[in-house]
Amino acid sequence: MLRILILAALIWWGGKFLRFSRLLRLSVVGLLYCVVLLLHLTLPPLHGLRQSTGGSVEPWLLLGGFGLLALGYWRIISMLRTRAQPKEPPMSDAAPTFSGTELERYARHIVLRELGGPGQKRLKQAKVLVIGAGGLGAPALQYLAAAGVGTIGVIDDDIVENANLQRQVIHRDKDIGTPKVFSAQAAMEAQNPYVIVRPYHRRLDAEIATELFSEYDLILDGTDNFDTRYLVNRTAVALGKPLISGALSQWEGQLSLFHPKQGGPCYQCIFPEAPAMGLAPSCSEAGVIGPLPGVVGSMMAVEAIKHITGAGMVLRDELLIYDALYGESRKIRLSRNEECPICNAT
Ligand SMILES: [Zn+2]
Repeated sequence: MLRILILAALIWWGGKFLRFSRLLRLSVVGLLYCVVLLLHLTLPPLHGLRQSTGGSVEPWLLLGGFGLLALGYWRIISMLRTRAQPKEPPMSDAAPTFSGTELERYARHIVLRELGGPGQKRLKQAKVLVIGAGGLGAPALQYLAAAGVGTIGVIDDDIVENANLQRQVIHRDKDIGTPKVFSAQAAMEAQNPYVIVRPYHRRLDAEIATELFSEYDLILDGTDNFDTRYLVNRTAVALGKPLISGALSQWEGQLSLFHPKQGGPCYQCIFPEAPAMGLAPSCSEAGVIGPLPGVVGSMMAVEAIKHITGAGMVLRDELLIYDALYGESRKIRLSRNEECPICNAT
């Protein structure tokens, strides 16, 4: 029996040394256990193989039972740890006050049991950075501003084009030719003069990402290129910032909140490699139904508000997929990739 246990330990730790995933190592050890159990259940009692693996089936059954109990216990603990979220994010000492007009403006929030006055104050204190003022960024920005998020940064190097206006409703016809961040800023400030908007008319690159992200509490990514997505994820993970990531293609959208500092995967755990050229065509190549960015971008704003105020359960460890063509939505459970070079390095 001891020899089998040593072999199992060798598989487990040797596999870990060779960087095999936990699931693979667990499967091989489980297979070894099943083989030994099968030998004991099928061979006669005095068979050499049975004698050399303990002689009796009872200790193996007992070991299997303990193993299952330990596995169940570990699973429950890791689920609880992942699910545990701070319900009451700390509020700074200098809690903001509201004017009469602001109180009236946010009244529909304040009467919500899950938000109330404290939730609205947290929104006013919050600093949110939105990457991209295009399809997903535009609705997210509009709702974050309307909801009273105190400081909203937006970075994008694009200018408004005629072909954007079928879906990016924050920009108007007269904005064609204007940098998107300035057009978005004007729309947000016109809608809610009680928020601060910081536009950055440039492309996000590694040179500025760390310094820029460190000024914000929460990052929303609505970009359409993988290089930027990986840069955003890398920087957010390194700084321990939560990242709400959304994506679109034709009729389908998806979103999730990644915050490995509090458990769960990062973006690159789920999408380890950019798809090959041509496999993930952009909106301009493949098309996108106009209201879809509005749906998914608004969902990103909802997740942001929930994260900031501690209301409900955010989409952490879950990917929500919305299929507009069939009016369906579903959720996929996400887990950390132990081989991920991004979140395992921190
Ligand atoms: Zn990761």
